[in-house]
Amino acid sequence: MTTPNVPQHFSELALDPELLARLTELGYDTPTPIQSQVIPSVLEGRDLIAGANTGSGKTAAFALPLLQSLSDNRSQLVKNANKGNEVSALILVPTRELAKQVADSIKSYSAHYNGAIKTVCVFGGVSVNTQMMALRGGTDILVATPGRLLDLMSSNAIKLDKVKTLVLDEADRMLSLGFTDELTQLLDSLPKQKQTLLFSATFPEQVQSLTQHLLTDPVEVQLQSDDESTVVQRVFNVNKGEKTAVLAHLIKQHKWRQALVFVNAKNHCEHLADKLYKRGIEADVFHGDKGQNYRTRIMDEFKSGDIEVLIATDIAARGIDIEKLPVVINFDLPRSPSDYMHRIGRSGRAGEVGLAISLIDYEDFHHFKVIEKKNKIRLDREQVKGFEVDESVTQKMIDANKPTAKPAGTGKKKRKKQQQADSDVWLKK
Ligand code: AMP
Repeated sequence: MTTPNVPQHFSELALDPELLARLTELGYDTPTPIQSQVIPSVLEGRDLIAGANTGSGKTAAFALPLLQSLSDNRSQLVKNANKGNEVSALILVPTRELAKQVADSIKSYSAHYNGAIKTVCVFGGVSVNTQMMALRGGTDILVATPGRLLDLMSSNAIKLDKVKTLVLDEADRMLSLGFTDELTQLLDSLPKQKQTLLFSATFPEQVQSLTQHLLTDPVEVQLQSDDESTVVQRVFNVNKGEKTAVLAHLIKQHKWRQALVFVNAKNHCEHLADKLYKRGIEADVFHGDKGQNYRTRIMDEFKSGDIEVLIATDIAARGIDIEKLPVVINFDLPRSPSDYMHRIGRSGRAGEVGLAISLIDYEDFHHFKVIEKKNKIRLDREQVKGFEVDESVTQKMIDANKPTAKPAGTGKKKRKKQQQADSDVWLKK
């Protein structure tokens, strides 16, 4: 069924032939649902808030209209570019990997402009000098992580007072990673008059508060869950101490082409890799203590399929686009329910059916109930053949699931206080 007024083909969108030709080369036949809904509004200059995961095609949803309006104003841009270290469009992202990925996509989409639109990417963990050089004379598009951008501003390598469009990508992640202060500082440096686009997979209080203070009469886009790529979610009850054995068994049994395994601590990555190695499975690790060059290399090798099993912390949960990743495994459960959604979103990319497996022992049982409740999902608990959980433990799991009494009013008061604290941050503006 077609939806009226929603473009079904890229040619129906008011995009330059340079962009349309590039999309054809990339094999983008039809716009994804988020692209159909977002592109026309952004071209009209509206502010926008969109609920979308990475994998839905959201990078092109904001990048294509951004490139289009930059190309419309190209003569003006060239003049501006000579004025100093100015930026026309600022895209803020939470992680280094996402910054690189978004910038690479934009460079790819703008290939037919033959260098007329300049995109620079800045993030921490690598030398600042190269980034300063790249920013000389300004840039049309700047993709940045908040910390490094502030560093560059304090050394006058970049000025934000001419920004016309601001994109906040993965806003929820940015706030949950503790970038609130950096964001407040950055937002204060931007001109009041600008177009703002905010993308977020989830909408906790902090994001809602940010939205209220940042957006003017925004268009709201929320995809129906049917529109998103499909991820089949499965949960296996596992005996305490048997998770590694079960993981090794599943990897060998299913012979997945690739698997991304999530753990909760950096040192767990190495421990688990060692334990899997003893069971005949080679795995690489990916976490925040690794240098940027290592992280880039590992991610490239995982993307190209050279690495089959990658064990990672949540740093890999956001925004990493690994084509057709067949399975994501929660070896440790994520701390926050929204991280669960981000982790499983690494599988089932761009219309492919993916698989997300969570291994839970009785200590995880209650936490997984919270994850289900917050994400409005309910999954059957399954057993892995040969690793069945014994009766007494199953009973413990059921007991752990019983609701615990809370003193009346505490939750509400606490929530109210948090809400107040969250909005204070943005009210300051
Ligand atoms: P994103 O959500 O922006 O990270 O995109 C996820 C994946 O979908 C990337 O590999 C994109 O190259 C791909 N993609 C985005 N839009 C389209 C489209 N219209 N048709 C086919 N693939 C797309």
